[in-house]
Amino acid sequence: MIKCKQAIEGTECGRTCCCLDCEQFDTCKIKCSDPKEACEYAFSEENALALMQSDAKEIINAISDLTVAKKQIEDREKEMRSKLVEAMEHYGVKSFENEVVKFTYIAPTTRTTIDSAKLKKDLPDVAAKYSKTSAVSASVKITVK
Ligand code: SF4
Ligand code: SF4
Repeated sequence: MIKCKQAIEGTECGRTCCCLDCEQFDTCKIKCSDPKEACEYAFSEENALALMQSDAKEIINAISDLTVAKKQIEDREKEMRSKLVEAMEHYGVKSFENEVVKFTYIAPTTRTTIDSAKLKKDLPDVAAKYSKTSAVSASVKITVK
């Protein structure tokens, strides 16, 4: 199917195809005002990836930089947190604060969770009874290589 770049912001008819590729073209009253075969806004599955990477180049670069920086900050934070826990345990300090942050020591503990995979396997009826379905927005998973 040939798609239209101009449809990216949404269309009145709800379709994303090029009007020339639409079965309602002949009868549609809101069709493209300047339909042409070699249109600069037309794209297909074959060139969609290259086009998207070109059009969203700045966004892709920005989110890549942010993701890498975030990962570096999180790694550094994890390391510093671990060192701080060691220091607080060493000095027996439970809590303190500076101008901007309050630190509170949390002692090691255990956490109990339900093994949902095992529950579904052993007691599928119970798992189904206590399961609920909710809508999840589209998102993108980004993995730092
Ligand atoms: S011809 Fe009409 S219905 Fe079909 S894609 Fe174009 S505007 Fe939408
Ligand atoms: S001819 Fe071009 S502008 Fe018109 S619907 Fe098709 S791709 Fe979009």
